[in-house]
Amino acid sequence: MNFQLPSLPYAKDALEPVVGLGTIEFHHGKHHQAYVNNLNNLIKGTKFEQMSLEEIILKSDGAIYNNAAQVWNHTFYFYSFKPGGGGNPKGQLAKAIEGEWGTFENFVKEFNAAALSLFGSGWAWLVKDNSGKLSIIQESNAGNPLTKGVTPILTFDVWEHAYYLDYQNRRADYLSSLWGIIDWDAVCARY
Ligand code: MN
Repeated sequence: MNFQLPSLPYAKDALEPVVGLGTIEFHHGKHHQAYVNNLNNLIKGTKFEQMSLEEIILKSDGAIYNNAAQVWNHTFYFYSFKPGGGGNPKGQLAKAIEGEWGTFENFVKEFNAAALSLFGSGWAWLVKDNSGKLSIIQESNAGNPLTKGVTPILTFDVWEHAYYLDYQNRRADYLSSLWGIIDWDAVCARY
């Protein structure tokens, strides 16, 4: 399979000022694209060439895993936002969050703390298990929670390339700003 860079569901400058045009151009146009290109080159002539992206993530390791997971993670991340997003989740996801953390505000605090304390590059994830129970997990580097048998609901990219152009070293400011562009319709549909 030849993987393609998915186009964004919004204009490149639509998430300004939370995620700037320059960040989108590099993060989607260069970094995400590079993971797609690397993956296509690495799987050429291997058994992975016939697999879906999810199958590759579950069955590979090393460079193939890293690039496949980064393709998946970035698509999932970019499809969690919309201009004029933010606010609160609704429906079943809102209930599950309140069941686990008491209030949405407390969940946001816990999620931010996980993302902020992640050492180096990686991803903070909201995931659900087979019973629908939610948890927040940290993954280093390309880590993708599908390998743990859970379903991803939301992720924040905390690699420096995700925020350095807009926020320099201020990861906490980047994290608190991201909540203002969440596309909760898209995120709630994953629960
Ligand atoms: Mn990234």
